[in-house]
Amino acid sequence: MIINNDNNRHNNYKDEILIVEDERKIRKVIRGYLEKEGFMVKETSEGKKALEIIKQDSPSLVILDLMLPDTSGENICQLIRQESDLPILMLTAKSKTKNKIKGLKLGADDYLVKPFDPQELIARIKAILRRSGPRNHTSEVIILGQDRIKIYPESGEVKVKNKNADLTGTEFKILYTLIKNPHQILTRYQLADRALGLEFDGYDRTIDVHIKNIRQKLKLKKGEYIHTVYGQGYKYVGDQVD
Ligand code: CA
Repeated sequence: MIINNDNNRHNNYKDEILIVEDERKIRKVIRGYLEKEGFMVKETSEGKKALEIIKQDSPSLVILDLMLPDTSGENICQLIRQESDLPILMLTAKSKTKNKIKGLKLGADDYLVKPFDPQELIARIKAILRRSGPRNHTSEVIILGQDRIKIYPESGEVKVKNKNADLTGTEFKILYTLIKNPHQILTRYQLADRALGLEFDGYDRTIDVHIKNIRQKLKLKKGEYIHTVYGQGYKYVGDQVD
Protein backbone atom coordinates (compact mmCIF):
# COMPACT_ATOMS: atom_id res chain seq x y z
CA MET A 1 0.00 0.00 0.00
CA ILE A 2 1.22 3.43 -0.81
CA ILE A 3 0.01 5.11 2.34
CA ASN A 4 1.20 3.49 5.51
CA ASN A 5 -1.92 4.22 7.39
CA ASP A 6 -3.71 1.39 9.11
CA ASN A 7 -7.08 2.90 8.39
CA ASN A 8 -6.55 2.40 4.69
CA ARG A 9 -6.34 -1.31 5.08
CA HIS A 10 -10.04 -1.41 5.86
CA ASN A 11 -10.83 0.01 2.45
CA ASN A 12 -10.49 -2.08 -0.64
CA TYR A 13 -10.27 1.02 -2.72
CA LYS A 14 -9.87 4.68 -2.10
CA ASP A 15 -12.88 6.86 -2.67
CA GLU A 16 -12.23 10.37 -3.76
CA ILE A 17 -14.27 12.98 -1.95
CA LEU A 18 -14.69 16.49 -3.33
CA ILE A 19 -15.13 19.32 -0.82
CA VAL A 20 -16.91 22.37 -2.19
CA GLU A 21 -16.66 24.99 0.50
CA ASP A 22 -15.46 28.58 0.49
CA GLU A 23 -14.30 28.64 4.09
CA ARG A 24 -10.72 27.53 4.04
CA LYS A 25 -10.71 26.52 7.72
CA ILE A 26 -13.64 24.19 7.29
CA ARG A 27 -12.09 22.68 4.15
CA LYS A 28 -8.90 22.05 6.05
CA VAL A 29 -10.64 20.35 8.95
CA ILE A 30 -12.75 18.15 6.70
CA ARG A 31 -9.74 17.24 4.58
CA GLY A 32 -7.81 16.21 7.68
CA TYR A 33 -10.55 13.90 8.88
CA LEU A 34 -11.14 12.40 5.45
CA GLU A 35 -7.47 11.74 4.82
CA LYS A 36 -7.17 10.08 8.19
CA GLU A 37 -9.88 7.72 7.03
CA GLY A 38 -7.96 6.93 3.87
CA PHE A 39 -10.04 8.94 1.43
CA MET A 40 -8.50 10.82 -1.45
CA VAL A 41 -9.55 14.46 -1.21
CA LYS A 42 -10.04 17.31 -3.66
CA GLU A 43 -11.21 20.71 -2.63
CA THR A 44 -12.45 23.90 -4.19
CA SER A 45 -14.08 27.11 -3.02
CA GLU A 46 -16.04 27.64 -6.23
CA GLY A 47 -19.09 26.00 -7.68
CA LYS A 48 -17.93 26.27 -11.27
CA LYS A 49 -14.63 24.67 -10.44
CA ALA A 50 -16.51 21.91 -8.64
CA LEU A 51 -18.37 21.00 -11.81
CA GLU A 52 -15.10 20.83 -13.72
CA ILE A 53 -13.53 18.56 -11.12
CA ILE A 54 -16.58 16.30 -11.11
CA LYS A 55 -16.40 15.91 -14.89
CA GLN A 56 -12.73 15.20 -14.81
CA ASP A 57 -12.35 13.02 -11.75
CA SER A 58 -15.72 11.38 -11.13
CA PRO A 59 -15.34 11.55 -7.36
CA SER A 60 -17.30 9.12 -5.19
CA LEU A 61 -19.06 11.82 -3.22
CA VAL A 62 -19.36 15.60 -3.01
CA ILE A 63 -19.54 17.61 0.18
CA LEU A 64 -21.38 20.70 -0.95
CA ASP A 65 -21.66 23.96 0.95
CA LEU A 66 -24.84 25.85 0.09
CA MET A 67 -23.49 29.38 0.25
CA LEU A 68 -20.69 29.78 -2.23
CA PRO A 69 -19.24 32.98 -3.64
CA ASP A 70 -19.95 32.35 -7.31
CA THR A 71 -23.19 30.43 -7.23
CA SER A 72 -25.45 28.61 -4.79
CA GLY A 73 -24.91 25.05 -3.69
CA GLU A 74 -28.54 24.41 -4.62
CA ASN A 75 -27.74 25.37 -8.19
CA ILE A 76 -24.68 23.13 -8.26
CA CYS A 77 -26.72 20.30 -6.81
CA GLN A 78 -29.29 20.64 -9.59
CA LEU A 79 -26.60 20.74 -12.27
CA ILE A 80 -24.98 17.62 -10.86
CA ARG A 81 -28.31 15.82 -10.74
CA GLN A 82 -29.00 16.59 -14.40
CA GLU A 83 -26.01 14.48 -15.27
CA SER A 84 -25.48 11.86 -12.61
CA ASP A 85 -26.46 10.24 -9.35
CA LEU A 86 -23.19 11.24 -7.72
CA PRO A 87 -23.79 11.21 -3.95
CA ILE A 88 -24.09 14.70 -2.46
CA LEU A 89 -23.85 15.67 1.17
CA MET A 90 -24.96 19.24 1.71
CA LEU A 91 -23.30 21.36 4.30
CA THR A 92 -24.77 24.59 5.45
CA ALA A 93 -25.43 27.12 8.13
CA LYS A 94 -29.07 27.20 7.17
CA SER A 95 -30.71 25.09 9.79
CA LYS A 96 -34.37 25.55 9.09
CA THR A 97 -36.28 22.43 8.27
CA LYS A 98 -37.66 23.89 5.09
CA ASN A 99 -34.15 24.44 3.77
CA LYS A 100 -33.29 20.90 4.67
CA ILE A 101 -36.28 19.58 2.78
CA LYS A 102 -35.46 21.79 -0.18
CA GLY A 103 -31.91 20.42 -0.29
CA LEU A 104 -33.12 16.87 -0.18
CA LYS A 105 -35.71 17.60 -2.84
CA LEU A 106 -32.97 18.90 -5.09
CA GLY A 107 -31.41 15.50 -4.86
CA ALA A 108 -28.92 15.73 -2.03
CA ASP A 109 -28.37 12.42 -0.28
CA ASP A 110 -27.89 13.92 3.13
CA TYR A 111 -27.67 17.24 4.89
CA LEU A 112 -25.50 18.43 7.76
CA VAL A 113 -25.84 21.73 9.59
CA LYS A 114 -22.85 23.79 10.67
CA PRO A 115 -21.29 23.70 13.14
CA PHE A 116 -21.01 19.94 12.87
CA ASP A 117 -18.98 17.22 14.47
CA PRO A 118 -16.43 16.00 11.90
CA GLN A 119 -16.90 12.45 13.22
CA GLU A 120 -20.55 12.68 12.34
CA LEU A 121 -19.65 13.91 8.89
CA ILE A 122 -17.38 10.91 8.37
CA ALA A 123 -20.04 8.52 9.64
CA ARG A 124 -22.60 9.98 7.27
CA ILE A 125 -20.23 9.85 4.33
CA LYS A 126 -19.52 6.21 5.00
CA ALA A 127 -23.23 5.50 5.27
CA ILE A 128 -23.94 7.22 1.95
CA LEU A 129 -21.10 5.36 0.26
CA ARG A 130 -22.36 2.06 1.65
CA ARG A 131 -25.81 2.81 0.29
CA SER A 132 -24.62 3.95 -3.09
CA GLY A 133 -22.22 1.06 -3.48
CA PRO A 134 -18.91 1.24 -5.25
CA ARG A 135 -18.93 3.74 -8.03
CA ASN A 136 -16.35 4.05 -10.76
CA HIS A 137 -14.47 1.31 -9.12
CA THR A 138 -14.23 -1.45 -11.57
CA SER A 139 -11.14 -3.52 -11.05
CA GLU A 140 -9.27 -1.37 -13.51
CA VAL A 141 -5.59 -2.04 -14.02
CA ILE A 142 -3.48 0.12 -16.27
CA ILE A 143 -0.76 -1.93 -17.87
CA LEU A 144 2.31 -0.47 -19.49
CA GLY A 145 5.27 -1.95 -21.25
CA GLN A 146 3.74 -5.38 -21.75
CA ASP A 147 3.05 -6.07 -18.08
CA ARG A 148 6.21 -4.39 -16.85
CA ILE A 149 4.27 -1.67 -15.03
CA LYS A 150 0.88 -2.25 -13.48
CA ILE A 151 -1.13 0.60 -12.02
CA TYR A 152 -4.10 -0.09 -9.76
CA PRO A 153 -6.22 3.04 -9.39
CA GLU A 154 -8.43 1.44 -6.73
CA SER A 155 -5.69 0.79 -4.27
CA GLY A 156 -3.24 3.41 -5.46
CA GLU A 157 -0.64 0.73 -5.97
CA VAL A 158 1.93 0.58 -8.71
CA LYS A 159 3.93 -2.53 -9.45
CA VAL A 160 7.07 -2.69 -11.50
CA LYS A 161 7.90 -6.21 -12.58
CA ASN A 162 5.40 -7.36 -9.96
CA LYS A 163 7.20 -5.57 -7.16
CA ASN A 164 5.50 -2.76 -5.31
CA ALA A 165 7.03 0.53 -6.45
CA ASP A 166 6.07 2.19 -3.15
CA LEU A 167 4.79 5.44 -4.58
CA THR A 168 3.62 7.95 -2.02
CA GLY A 169 0.01 9.05 -2.19
CA THR A 170 1.06 12.32 -3.78
CA GLU A 171 3.23 10.63 -6.38
CA PHE A 172 0.41 8.29 -7.27
CA LYS A 173 -2.03 11.15 -7.70
CA ILE A 174 0.35 13.00 -9.99
CA LEU A 175 1.04 9.90 -12.06
CA TYR A 176 -2.64 9.05 -12.33
CA THR A 177 -3.54 12.61 -13.33
CA LEU A 178 -0.98 12.48 -16.13
CA ILE A 179 -2.26 9.12 -17.32
CA LYS A 180 -5.86 10.32 -17.31
CA ASN A 181 -4.87 13.16 -19.63
CA PRO A 182 -2.77 11.42 -22.26
CA HIS A 183 -0.91 13.49 -24.84
CA GLN A 184 -1.83 16.69 -23.05
CA ILE A 185 0.78 19.00 -21.66
CA LEU A 186 -0.04 19.69 -18.05
CA THR A 187 1.71 22.63 -16.44
CA ARG A 188 3.08 22.35 -12.94
CA TYR A 189 0.21 24.51 -11.85
CA GLN A 190 -2.35 22.21 -13.45
CA LEU A 191 -0.73 19.15 -11.96
CA ALA A 192 -0.73 20.62 -8.47
CA ASP A 193 -4.27 21.77 -8.90
CA ARG A 194 -5.74 18.64 -10.49
CA ALA A 195 -3.75 15.98 -8.72
CA LEU A 196 -3.45 17.52 -5.30
CA GLY A 197 -6.13 20.17 -5.25
CA LEU A 198 -3.62 22.70 -4.05
CA GLU A 199 -3.48 26.37 -4.69
CA PHE A 200 -0.17 26.75 -6.39
CA ASP A 201 1.61 30.06 -6.58
CA GLY A 202 4.00 30.55 -9.43
CA TYR A 203 6.97 28.38 -10.01
CA ASP A 204 7.69 25.65 -7.56
CA ARG A 205 10.09 22.75 -7.67
CA THR A 206 7.79 20.45 -5.75
CA ILE A 207 6.16 18.93 -8.81
CA ASP A 208 9.54 18.40 -10.46
CA VAL A 209 10.74 16.49 -7.43
CA HIS A 210 7.66 14.29 -7.45
CA ILE A 211 8.08 13.58 -11.16
CA LYS A 212 11.70 12.69 -10.61
CA ASN A 213 10.69 10.24 -7.88
CA ILE A 214 7.96 8.73 -10.02
CA ARG A 215 10.40 8.14 -12.87
CA GLN A 216 12.90 6.59 -10.52
CA LYS A 217 10.43 4.33 -8.79
CA LEU A 218 8.90 3.21 -12.09
CA LYS A 219 12.41 2.66 -13.44
CA LEU A 220 11.57 4.61 -16.56
CA LYS A 221 14.08 5.10 -19.30
CA LYS A 222 14.80 8.64 -20.39
CA GLY A 223 11.72 10.13 -22.04
CA GLU A 224 9.65 7.04 -21.44
CA TYR A 225 5.92 7.61 -20.76
CA ILE A 226 6.36 10.95 -19.00
CA HIS A 227 7.78 13.65 -21.23
CA THR A 228 9.19 16.89 -19.94
CA VAL A 229 8.03 19.69 -22.21
CA TYR A 230 10.55 22.42 -21.77
CA GLY A 231 9.14 25.65 -20.39
CA GLN A 232 5.64 24.16 -20.25
CA GLY A 233 5.21 21.13 -18.09
CA TYR A 234 4.76 17.39 -18.38
CA LYS A 235 2.98 15.10 -20.76
CA TYR A 236 2.06 11.45 -20.52
CA VAL A 237 2.36 9.29 -23.61
CA GLY A 238 1.31 5.68 -23.41
CA ASP A 239 2.84 2.72 -25.11
CA GLN A 240 3.41 3.26 -28.82
CA VAL A 241 1.00 1.07 -30.72
CA ASP A 242 2.28 -0.29 -34.01
CA1 CA B 1 -20.04 29.19 2.46
